[in-house]
Amino acid sequence: MSQFKVNYLGCGSATPTLRHLPSCQVIDYRDNLFMVDCGECAQLSMRRQRLKYSRLGHIFISHLHGDHCLGLPGLISTLALTGKEGGVVTIHTTADGADIFRRILGFFCRETPFDVRYEIFDPKATSTIFESDALTVTTFPLYHRVPCTGFMFAEKQKLRHLKGDVVRFYNVPVRDYARIKSGDDWVTEEGRVIPNAVLTSPADAAVSYAYCSDTVYDERVARSVEGVHTLYHEATYTDDYSDKARKRGHSTASEAARIARAAGATQLVLGHFSKRYADERQHLREAQAIFPNTVTAYEGLAIDLL
Ligand SMILES: [Zn+2]
Repeated sequence: MSQFKVNYLGCGSATPTLRHLPSCQVIDYRDNLFMVDCGECAQLSMRRQRLKYSRLGHIFISHLHGDHCLGLPGLISTLALTGKEGGVVTIHTTADGADIFRRILGFFCRETPFDVRYEIFDPKATSTIFESDALTVTTFPLYHRVPCTGFMFAEKQKLRHLKGDVVRFYNVPVRDYARIKSGDDWVTEEGRVIPNAVLTSPADAAVSYAYCSDTVYDERVARSVEGVHTLYHEATYTDDYSDKARKRGHSTASEAARIARAAGATQLVLGHFSKRYADERQHLREAQAIFPNTVTAYEGLAIDLL
């Protein structure tokens, strides 16, 4: 059973087409659902992918272009009618976003059986906007035609594993386990220091996922996501439209791959494909020439990170 999974609900740019829906992803971390962008049809795609409405607690909006946020009224209305009783849905957005969504949702979704809250972030800043005991969500700036923000979902440093036989050999009391797992040495009653490395084995690697919504190619993005495990990066165009990409504040597939390579990512997922393409084979070819471990996103794709 996956503990950290990304579900791709919408992988295209602009309005829904027969091939792609507008941007929407749902990150499932230990059964808590975090939506990133909310393109039209989000609520239908959630149902199709068997993601429970009742588990959705947070929605992060990267920027105020319709293909990234116009699904909100439909989603919140549907949640209100079915599936979510009580609790809170927090919409993370800019001050302008909160102002607009308050008015739209205030009109169409007046009576929800749950609270809708707004948390405002500065799109130019890097800041941690969500934190639980195991996960953080941090913003970082992207470079688009309007203020645009990326989101990094990162597990916190994990605890080291106790070596059961060694711990039993030294009769370590249970009350000291937590400190040892976080890295402390242990001292016996006689004052002998048992080094942590004797008592434990290394922690599992913390996993991270970065969402780079609409952006022009910019090396600052690579620095913001340095060391990320899985990078989602928009790839609206292929190389033959690189001028158009720059003018429209978008990237090509090979530019996305250069960001992944510079960041030292393990895996790259491409998305936000322009409707001018009949398929994404050319995107994949161009990206893999630079960063081989690349996949193209599609509606219904789910990637287990853990
Ligand atoms: Zn945009």
